[in-house]
Amino acid sequence: MRYVSTRGAAPDLSFEEAMLSGLARDGGLYVPAEVPQVSAGDFRAMRGLSYEEVAFRVMRPFVDESFSDEVFGDLIGKAYASFGHAARAPLVQLAPGHFLCELFHGPTLAFKDFAMQLIGQLFEEALTRRGERVTIVGATSGDTGSAAIEAFRGLDAVDVFILYPHGRVSDVQRRQMTTPSEANVHAIALDGHFDDCQARLKDMFNHFEFRDRVRLAGVNSINWARVLAQVVYYVTSALELGAPERAVSFTVPTGNFGDIFAGYIAKRMGLPIDRLVVATNQNDILHRCLSSGAYETDTVTPSISPSMDIQVSSNFERALFDAYGRDGAAVAQLMDELKSGGFRVSQGALETLREQFSSGRASEEETLETIARLHRTTGELLCPHSAVGVHVAEAQRDPAVPMITLATAHPAKFPDAVETATGIRPGLPPRMADLFERPERITRAENDLAALETLIEERIGS
Ligand SMILES: *Cc1c(COP(=O)(O)O)cnc(C)c1O
Repeated sequence: MRYVSTRGAAPDLSFEEAMLSGLARDGGLYVPAEVPQVSAGDFRAMRGLSYEEVAFRVMRPFVDESFSDEVFGDLIGKAYASFGHAARAPLVQLAPGHFLCELFHGPTLAFKDFAMQLIGQLFEEALTRRGERVTIVGATSGDTGSAAIEAFRGLDAVDVFILYPHGRVSDVQRRQMTTPSEANVHAIALDGHFDDCQARLKDMFNHFEFRDRVRLAGVNSINWARVLAQVVYYVTSALELGAPERAVSFTVPTGNFGDIFAGYIAKRMGLPIDRLVVATNQNDILHRCLSSGAYETDTVTPSISPSMDIQVSSNFERALFDAYGRDGAAVAQLMDELKSGGFRVSQGALETLREQFSSGRASEEETLETIARLHRTTGELLCPHSAVGVHVAEAQRDPAVPMITLATAHPAKFPDAVETATGIRPGLPPRMADLFERPERITRAENDLAALETLIEERIGS
């Protein structure tokens, strides 16, 4: 399997090369040259298998010769062993025809663990085999960073630096990043928003001299391996509700478009998915774009669902690449226009996007109302991101098709919003009950590329 850049001007890579490099050298994102097809019979044969077995069958064709069957199966086993639920991604019913897929049973209580735990295993295996060492730099609005630090802490072949927006992540998120004591993990509090963290990360990748000197690798959702790992729970949950004989729809609380893009890949593989619904909070660039065709960045307004406080949605580029008939030059042109504030999607591309994706948004009040109401009607405590999803799903639901809303984080990761809505302060699971007693290590940094690069080089001693 070969991987191509969405901007059409970088070399094709293998799965392993695409995984280790993250961003393509032309600034684009790697996507598979073609999407492997799974027959209805093959989907049927996955029913009743463990999450790990389905994961192996779904991901295997994308991984090519980079890992042997035996090694790949082993690494999947290790990746999900730390999850606190035997089903890994269990379904819970909310209402007739409406289900919640709980993706928060991993070690840092958000869906990011599904991809990050696996990528940690794949990186360690590949780097050890190659006798190489890399510097991973990630940008986070909270959950990616904690998941990455948890997945890479203590590994020999990597240093991990996570840039998070100072003062804009929850206490639980921050503590999950700042309390691991391993010398190879570095949590950096940047003076700025998440988009600043993401922009500096992109700048580092585009500064080839630095990139090569520190052997920069990326594990943000721009990394194809992360998208791939997320395809699996679309398959397991659809199978539970009757796929491939019955189609289902998904509503996905969306920020960087990585999670919902994984759903799109599942659909392209042949999984019968009716609608893929993008749910945004008040930072609704994706909803506005799918409604009007205008992709225009605005200022970020902090919300109670901070992991979706995003204006530049990196993985949307992958969807645009397909919508523009895989024309890398056209995508490069749009991304150039984005630097000066925005672009307009062509009519043809917009129609193609709308065939795949619907969208909706939830205000802060609607989010709190949904948390309170679902607690009353079902006893479920929703995190604010999941509540944005449930609100949008209710508005978009077609009674003939089961709707699955992805619950992207555990309510205890965002206890203030949940307490405001319900009066109940959700507790952390026992395995992390001492989080607030562990000592923190925080490094503050300015929003400045040169200063960040110096800091990283000093820390790794290169
Ligand atoms: C990251 C995150 C999202 C958004 O996911 P994307 O893949 O960026 O669209 C939603 N909810 C939570 C809790 C997250 O951590």
